Amino acid sequence: PFEFADRVGRVEPSATIAISNLAAELEADGVDVVDLSVGAPDFETPANIKRAAKTALDEGHTGYTSSNGIPALKEAIVEKLHGDGLDQYGTENLIVTPGGKQALYEVFQTLIDGNDGQGPSASGTSSRSGDEVALLDPAWVSYEAMAKLAGGSLVRVDTEAHDFALEPALDDLRAAVSADTELLVVNSPGNPHGQVYTDAALEGVRDIAVEYDITVISDEIYKSIVYDGREPTSLGALDGMRDRTITLNGFSKAYAMTGWRLGYFAAPESIVEQAGKLHSHSVTCAVNFVQHAGVEALANTDDAVEEMRAAFEDRRDMLVEAFREYGVDPPVPQGAFYLMLPVAEDDQAWAERAVEDAAVATVPGSAFGTPGYVRLSYAASRDRLQEGVDRLAEADLI
Ligand code: PLP
Repeated sequence: PFEFADRVGRVEPSATIAISNLAAELEADGVDVVDLSVGAPDFETPANIKRAAKTALDEGHTGYTSSNGIPALKEAIVEKLHGDGLDQYGTENLIVTPGGKQALYEVFQTLIDGNDGQGPSASGTSSRSGDEVALLDPAWVSYEAMAKLAGGSLVRVDTEAHDFALEPALDDLRAAVSADTELLVVNSPGNPHGQVYTDAALEGVRDIAVEYDITVISDEIYKSIVYDGREPTSLGALDGMRDRTITLNGFSKAYAMTGWRLGYFAAPESIVEQAGKLHSHSVTCAVNFVQHAGVEALANTDDAVEEMRAAFEDRRDMLVEAFREYGVDPPVPQGAFYLMLPVAEDDQAWAERAVEDAAVATVPGSAFGTPGYVRLSYAASRDRLQEGVDRLAEADLI
């Protein structure tokens, strides 16, 4: 009886749902499932951040805030961005959102048009179904969904051939984009690939973005979770990128605050002006006392962030070693908390077998545009990780 809008018909429910449903059914039957499918740190939010939220509540910070965020948080974010070499951004370049996901959603809705029967592209060189968004595969699932919800079309460039390094894929990226490409998403350190793109790779992206006049989203939500002493460069700090980069971040991963819903994006002022309309007419503002907690997170949590980073690095080492013990040599993640495990069969089938036969939950790589792999999250204790690998071996999955 309902006539649904085209936009919801364009997207599928998250491909991870089939696996997590299977896992949930098993758990309901009392099976002990090793869940390596989740994209959330397994740590508690640091105590100082919780205290700051409680204090903010007690002090009465419970009403709406100004739509783009409270001044204290915007100032703290600007200071952080300047520390990353992004000194083009001031408080007027920011929108604070309920999570990084909402920030991305607002950016896509602001920049990407559907075609809606308007005929050929602006350049007249091709017919198209909407503004073009370029993704580097494997890419986090929601980029595709957000592009489609906005009515855009996708070009996808695979980085799988060289263990997800970007530099060897730059020629493919150059070949894939065109004057019709509106937006490129770069996610480093990346979900699910775990790569931290080199400066040379980022400079290559810059050259392509400048040549084809492409706006780039730099999703830096895993920036604090990097290994082997890496210090990732922010794309927007490169010459040529300062006025075409939208830098996106959030508190979920760095500060173990997934349920608090706090994120932001920094962009040229004209983008903020347009996106601000969407923001104010949809969410109004991010939660008031959560924004106050965000000020504390940025100001006083370096030690706890480092502790979590070091724990993830330790688990990364342990997990890679555990696979090697069984003769499996996956690409070594350089950041974030995911590992891409190559599998010899259809990855969806493998992931289903892993749940059913080994009670280990993973996410099929095809959900990220990269079949032939499954994604394992190592936001789990060393014991659980070892248990997971042992079970996979026992069930002949590795
Ligand atoms: N970007 C990437 C690459 C992610 O993996 C996630 C969460 O999984 C997000 C953005 C959004 O996170 P949140 O909305 O919790 O800030």
